[in-house]
Amino acid sequence: MIDFPAFRKKIADQNVTLVAVSKTRTHKQLMHLYDQGQRVFGENRVAELVEKQEALPKDISWHMIGHLQSKKVKKIISFVDLIHAVDSVKLLEVIQKEAEKHQKQQAVLLQMKVAQEESKYGMIEEEILAILADYQSGNYPNVLISGLMGMASFVSDQEQIKHEFQSLKSTFDICQSKLEDEEFNILSMGMSGDYELAIEQGSNMVRIGSLLF
Ligand SMILES: *Cc1c(COP(=O)(O)O)cnc(C)c1O
Repeated sequence: MIDFPAFRKKIADQNVTLVAVSKTRTHKQLMHLYDQGQRVFGENRVAELVEKQEALPKDISWHMIGHLQSKKVKKIISFVDLIHAVDSVKLLEVIQKEAEKHQKQQAVLLQMKVAQEESKYGMIEEEILAILADYQSGNYPNVLISGLMGMASFVSDQEQIKHEFQSLKSTFDICQSKLEDEEFNILSMGMSGDYELAIEQGSNMVRIGSLLF
C-alpha cells in the first residue's frame, strides 16, 4: 500500500486533481481515504454510486467515470458533480433534458477514443468538434462541457500509451482554442498504471483506484 498523504501531495503539487476510484471498495475503505482529507471519489456503476452517495458524507464530490447508459442519467443527476464519459450525442441530449428538470447546470467531459482496443468507448475528434459547435450555438444550455476524458490502451508499450495521450492532448488544445470564452479546462487521463505518463503529457485530472487500496 502506498503512503496516501504523500501520494496526494505529490499529485496536488503538480496541480492535478486526484479522483479516488472507489468502485468495488467498501464504505470503510473509502472512509479511510476520506479521513485523510480526500473528497473527490469516482465510481463506474450507477447502482453503486447511488448507494454510496446515500450512505456516505454529503461533502463528498462524486464523479461518474464509467460508461453511462442514457436511461440511468436520471438516477444520478441530482447529486453528481462531474460525468466523465459522455460518448454520444444521445447521452448528452438526455443529460441536457434531465439537468433542465433539476434546474442545474451539469458539468461533463467528452470521452475521446484514443485506444486501439475495440472495447473502449469514446468519440473521434470530428464528432467532438461537431458537438462543441452545437454547444457554442446554444444547444445544451444546462450542460457545462468542461473538458475531455480518455483511456489509453491496456498494453505495456509505453510509446504507444504516450502517443495515445498525446493525441488526446492535441484534440484538447484544439477544443480549448475554439472555446476560448468558456470554462473548458479539464483533461481527465491517467490511471494507476499510467498516471505519471499522463501527467507528463498534460493531464490535470487522474482517476486512480487500485494503487490506493
Ligand atoms: C476503474 C477505473 C479507473 C481506475 O483504474 P485503476 O487502474 O484501478 O487505477 C479509472 N478510470 C475508469 C473509467 C475506471 O473504470
